[in-house]
Amino acid sequence: MKQDMKLYLNFEPCHECNAMMTELSSSKMLFADAKTRADESAKFLRHLTYNHSEVVQAVMDDLPKQKRDQEPDFYQ
Ligand SMILES: [Zn+2]
Repeated sequence: MKQDMKLYLNFEPCHECNAMMTELSSSKMLFADAKTRADESAKFLRHLTYNHSEVVQAVMDDLPKQKRDQEPDFYQ
């Protein structure tokens, strides 16, 4: 989650963003099943796509780098 949050530091979250980020980091979500979490993440991403497209671009640019950073974990 800490890694995800850094992607959003460069933009001004609107009221909806704040509500969804609060929801996503709530203890209710921590104990939700994978599908519920995926649905909530998808909802947030959809909101970003329509309202903050510059953030989505930044996330997309950052994804390949994150994948590379994470790969060594698979071989431990
Ligand atoms: Zn927003």
